[in-house]
Amino acid sequence: MLVADLHHFLDVGPETPGPARKLAEHLSAIVAAASAGDAHIRWETALPCRRRPANRACLGRITVACAQPEQPIDWCCSHCGDHGTISNWAASIYDLRRQQLSATEPVRDIVVDAATAAVLRSLPFLDKDCQRAVFAIRAYDESLHLALTDTELDELIDALAAEANHEPNRRRQRQLDSAYDHLAAATGQPRW
Ligand SMILES: [Zn+2]
Repeated sequence: MLVADLHHFLDVGPETPGPARKLAEHLSAIVAAASAGDAHIRWETALPCRRRPANRACLGRITVACAQPEQPIDWCCSHCGDHGTISNWAASIYDLRRQQLSATEPVRDIVVDAATAAVLRSLPFLDKDCQRAVFAIRAYDESLHLALTDTELDELIDALAAEANHEPNRRRQRQLDSAYDHLAAATGQPRW
């Protein structure tokens, strides 16, 4: 059980050793997901488990229960049982709770693969609504579901195109292009 205080992980920079930086990224992503989801019951995020039992990646995903702001977030791997709590998360930069009720726009449900979900999480400069949609990607029925409005979908597609244009690393550029194609194809899908 990992008991963490988010405040201890906020000053992570390029000089921080790899394992500490990875843990900080893991914990901040859990905070973003837990605060992005509206549900009051435990749900399964798109975040992969970080453990590697016997040197093979655990295939589980992180489940979270959205906490009251003054309570720690409680997370758990769906597969290996790795679990922990994160306190002091509210009002941090990773807190994606909605501050006000937004106008009701129709919402699409787009099934994405794990690679697309990971690329979307890595995009810089997304606005809060897009970040919330990306971190609220939910695993059920054996797939990952991205729920978002047309406005948010357009913004994500633009962000992927902009990032791919500036990306010197060919491998990451291919990942960005593939996520772009995936979302662009979804714009032809009917809404529900
Ligand atoms: Zn696991």
